[in-house]
Order: sequence, then C-alpha cells, then structure tokens
Amino acid sequence: MSLTKRILIAMLAGLVLGIVFNLLLGIESLPAPLRGLIENVLVMGLFDTVGQIFIASLKLLVVPLVFVSLVLGTASLGSNKRMGVMAGKTIALYMVTTCVAISLALIAASIIKPGVGMDLATASNFMGSDAPSLKQVIINMFPTNPVTAMAEGNMLQIIVFSLLMGLALSQISEAGKNAYSMFESMDAVIMRMVLILMNLAPYGIFALLTKLFTTLGYGALADLGKYVFTLALVLVLHLLLVYCGLIKFVCKLNPIKFLSNVRPAMLFAFSTASSSATLPVTLRTAEKRLGVDNSVASFVLPLGATINMDGTAIMQGVATAFIAQAYGIDLTFTDYIMVILTATLASVGTAGVPGVGLIMLSMVLTQVGLPVEGVALIIGVDRLLDMLRTSVNVAGDSMVATLIGKSEGMFDNDIFEETSDTQV
Ligand code: ASP
Repeated sequence: MSLTKRILIAMLAGLVLGIVFNLLLGIESLPAPLRGLIENVLVMGLFDTVGQIFIASLKLLVVPLVFVSLVLGTASLGSNKRMGVMAGKTIALYMVTTCVAISLALIAASIIKPGVGMDLATASNFMGSDAPSLKQVIINMFPTNPVTAMAEGNMLQIIVFSLLMGLALSQISEAGKNAYSMFESMDAVIMRMVLILMNLAPYGIFALLTKLFTTLGYGALADLGKYVFTLALVLVLHLLLVYCGLIKFVCKLNPIKFLSNVRPAMLFAFSTASSSATLPVTLRTAEKRLGVDNSVASFVLPLGATINMDGTAIMQGVATAFIAQAYGIDLTFTDYIMVILTATLASVGTAGVPGVGLIMLSMVLTQVGLPVEGVALIIGVDRLLDMLRTSVNVAGDSMVATLIGKSEGMFDNDIFEETSDTQV
C-alpha cells in the first residue's frame, strides 16, 4: 500500500477513535477503571508518548537538513548570478501571495459577517502577549554564533549562515572539493533518515490525532460555526484559485497533478500543525515528487517555512474582521490596509510551530485598535483550524518552490508528470 494511503487511513482511524474516546469520557456514569484506562493509560500514556516522539524525530532532522542541503544548494549554484534574482523573486512571491490571502480573507469576512451577533461574555480573560517588532525581526536574522543558532533552531539565522558558507564554498573550487563531497554524502544520509521516518509516520500520526481529538472540546465548534466556515472557505479558495491558478497559468503545469504530488507534505502539516516540523517532508516531496531541483528547494522551502504563511495570514484576516464585528466596531478602509500590512509582517514573524499564529494575531489587533481580549473568542477552535492553515502554509511554500524551479530552468518535468503514489 502506498504511504499516502497508509497516512490517510491512520488519520481517519485517529480521528474516529479520538471522537469515540471524547464521547465516552463525556459520559458521567462511565466506570472509573474504564475512564482511567482511556484517559491515563491510552490517551495521555501511550498515544501522547508515541505522538511526542514522532514530532521530536521530525524536528530532529530540521536543522541538519536545512544546513546541509542549503550549503550544498548554494555551493552548486556556484557564483551563479541568478542567486540574487532567485532570492528576490522568492521573497516577492511570498509577500504578494500573503497580501492576496489576507485580502481574500477580509473580503469573505465582510460578506459573510461571521462575527455579527456573537456573545462577548467569554472574551474577558485573555491576556495579550508581546509580539516582536519588525526591527527586532530583521536584526534577529543575523547570527552572532552559528552553533547557538542551530542549538536554538533559529531558522532565519541558519539560512543566513548556510548561504554564506555555500557561497564561500563555491568560490574556492579546488580547495573546497573535499568539503563539498562531505556535504553531498551528509545530504544523502539525512535524506535517507527522512525516508525512514516517513515510513514510520502513519503510527505517529495515528497517535497524534487520537490524542488530539480525544482532548479537543467540540462545544465551541457549533458556536463559532460561521467563523470556522468562513476561514475554511477562504483557505480552500486560496489553494484552488491562487495556487492552482499560478501553477496552471504561470508554470503551465497540471494543478490537479500538483495537488496530488504535494499531498504527503500537506498531510504531515495537517497532522503536526507545524510547518517547521514538516520541513523534512516538504523538502523531500518537492525534490522527489514535484521535480524541483535541490538547489532551489533547499533555499525556497526553509525560507518559506519561516516567513511564508498564507494560511496563518488568512486566519488573521478573518479573525480580525470577526472580532471587529463581534464588538460592533466598524473598520475603515485605512484599517483594512493596515490589517493587510501588519498581518503580512506578522506572518513573517510567526514561527512555524502550533498556535503561534494566534499569538501574532494580537499584534494585528493592537495595530488597528481592536480589543486583544477578542482572541479569547476563537481560542477554543484554534487548534483544529491551525491544522488546516498549516496545510495551506506548506502548500504555498511548495507552490513557490515549483514556480521558481520552473522559471529558473531547475525543474524536472518527468518527475512531476510521472510521480506515482508509491514514490515519496
Ligand atoms: N502552525 C502554523 C505553522 O506552523 C503557524 C500558526 O499559524 O500558528 O505553519
């Protein structure tokens, strides 16, 4: 059976079992031993342990993978003048698609009006937290110590360091030959580790989702039905219109094939709610299923997992409009522009880990003078929506990688066309 199928079955099984456990635990008269077995032994014991080990193993690969493959990618591009152009195009595309994403979100939220008539009673106990300033985000990109950057998993700093190292390596051709082949072997080893982990993933995903759906509260889902619907709608629209549109009209590739090829990365993103933890899988998917050259993928994807979060930006757009409507505050045109700008920056500053998008939302709210306590209104359903938006975040990164690869002539059409589901 193909890996994608096994992952899908694991997800479905985890979802069903989680919901069954959740319903069982909701029964007051459930015998104590059975409750103990489900709650302590299975969910918080076995499943939580397996799930956490799975996430840890994914994260384990991120830093070495990004470092090795980015050094290698930059070095093999050599003193290619296209590097600067490629970087410029990548960042521009990331920013533009994010702006489009928030605009779509704001338009949909002002038509559907999910926040009108909300009960504000729950909104008083959220304490806003500090989001970093733009200046700080920029300064923080530059490492003072590569080891610290790697120890802390600071992706932007690792990217800067690896780019420099790769560039230097490309300039000392003969003397750097040994170092280059060492990076090449390391890359093969780490890619193999990713493959081993991907083959074990169905178990990890099953455990993660069972635990999550057992502990999730579903009450909020019905109350916030309109918010959830608007957000999910915009996420799907963005995926189908913007991503598939660019793939079809700019890359001249089949969008259905693109979605099918990118599926493993999206499923991992959904299960982990973390673009950063999904990165090893995104990289592998881009190279082995989408046909993007390593030198492009290894630059575009780690950067994307850190600064490009269209799904998160969509959530922030819908949530801002929702909170404004709930509080009966009218947003002006200038406010809308402000939301687009700050949410774009917020998505740059958002780390690719679960739930951070919600913290950054307080920065957007403050910017347009909305009450930060409004975040409490949507916190109950955020975990579930985080999974959806992270899938879109990762699909966006993969789309840009494909587009850049294609436009720079570093793309293998045969891999893209011939990918079958057994190939990961
Ligand atoms: N979980 C998201 C990601 O990793 C970030 C967020 O929106 O909270 O891409």
